[in-house]
Amino acid sequence: MSTSNQDILGFPVYSPVQQIRDPRLDRAAVELWIKREDLIHPVLSGNKWRKLKYNLIEARKRGQNRLLTFGGAYSNHLYATAAAGRIFGFETVAVVRGEETLPLNPRLQYMRDQGMVLRYMDRSTYRNKSTGTVLAQLSEEYPDSYVIPEGGSNELAIPGVLEAIEKLFGFDYYACACGSGGTTAGLLAGCHSATVLAVAVLKGAGFLAYDVHRLLESHSQQMQIDRLDLQLDYHFGGYAKRPKELLDFVADFKRRFDIAIEPIYTGKLFYALFDLIEKGYFPRGTKMLALHTGGL
Ligand SMILES: *Cc1c(COP(=O)(O)O)cnc(C)c1O
Repeated sequence: MSTSNQDILGFPVYSPVQQIRDPRLDRAAVELWIKREDLIHPVLSGNKWRKLKYNLIEARKRGQNRLLTFGGAYSNHLYATAAAGRIFGFETVAVVRGEETLPLNPRLQYMRDQGMVLRYMDRSTYRNKSTGTVLAQLSEEYPDSYVIPEGGSNELAIPGVLEAIEKLFGFDYYACACGSGGTTAGLLAGCHSATVLAVAVLKGAGFLAYDVHRLLESHSQQMQIDRLDLQLDYHFGGYAKRPKELLDFVADFKRRFDIAIEPIYTGKLFYALFDLIEKGYFPRGTKMLALHTGGL
């Protein structure tokens, strides 16, 4: 069974791109196009799928049938990994930050329903999750696992994200929300001479410039970092904070454009873009492509 939205491995690949119209854009003479990665697949939507794809291919190549990865109790990455495991026949283990709380939230319940093993880890151990000791412990518990870092942002995330903007040339800016930096690195690797505008969703996330740099180096793309425009002032107080101004913006966006966004990632991205546009940050005539990374 194959449809035009699948590649040779049966993976979803295609999502549409659409231009949005708004008086604020007209006044600033900025064109804003949105790549609808949220529409790519009902459960494997957005950038989490893009980042997983080449990791799944690598896991298969190594003959590793179990994916082990990390995240918080509301993680989009864990959710996508659970779904991908179910669809493509991998066992999945989620190392979940913190203690178990029952009943499970709907997201964790979904993950368990996909057959994912939920392995809780106290917060102080979790902070050291990428050290040898913790990884050794995990590989004793779950031998021969293919390990994917928190957020799914590793070297093999980059070629997947690249595919999101394949053939979409001619933009001055490519924009995305930035959590762990894999999506930003992928855009930088794929956008030729354009600028990548990344809106940090975490507070105090200056370290992201370094993380993105390191990811690009692992992909032999160290020269691209100059074209990163990392916006650090649109976190709205931190990762899961939802001040009224942001929630109002998200609701207004849905009303105007009939595109659903959420306050954690894409709400901050589009808020930042419109704020910068209204402040005259972009030269007149700028053409911008923003990634709707899903997360709904
Ligand atoms: C995880 C996520 C991001 C951030 O992507 P990174 O590659 O971690 O920077 C952006 N948008 C949504 C909807 C996400 O789930």
